[in-house]
Amino acid sequence: MPTIFSRIINGEIPSYKIAEDEHYFAFLDINPIKKGHTLVIPKVETDYIFELDDQTLSGLMLFAKKTGLAIEKAVPCKRIGIAVMGMEVPHAHIHLVPLENEGDLNFKNPKLKFTPEEMNTIAEDIRSNFIL
Ligand code: 5GP
Repeated sequence: MPTIFSRIINGEIPSYKIAEDEHYFAFLDINPIKKGHTLVIPKVETDYIFELDDQTLSGLMLFAKKTGLAIEKAVPCKRIGIAVMGMEVPHAHIHLVPLENEGDLNFKNPKLKFTPEEMNTIAEDIRSNFIL
């Protein structure tokens, strides 16, 4: 059974997509802890990030860098925080979270609510700054 993230990659489930290439996909987290909170995933379905082969893992980090640079142009912040947990979805992913202070990277913080229109605008702003 494909993971929810594979179904997003395949377009079976909608997402606020930021970017994709042959191997990677980036999209807004549906329950953001900060405006612009984004997930970056490999298209290959692997649960634990350290089970990815070296090439896929390093490529994932480079794709996350490109995505993070686009986020910081679109969303006011001091820098982009990076987190990997995978406690909920068994498909390796990197969280990119715009930070103003260290407390912003706390996943116990209340989730933010944005309307679909606002999510579309956030995704479009990030997308327009993404350089492949
Ligand atoms: P983790 O597995 O790293 O603990 O958390 C998974 C993350 O994926 C959570 O932040 C959650 O909000 C996000 N997430 C779970 N299901 C979906 C979904 O269907 N669409 C999107 N865009 N994000 C999701």
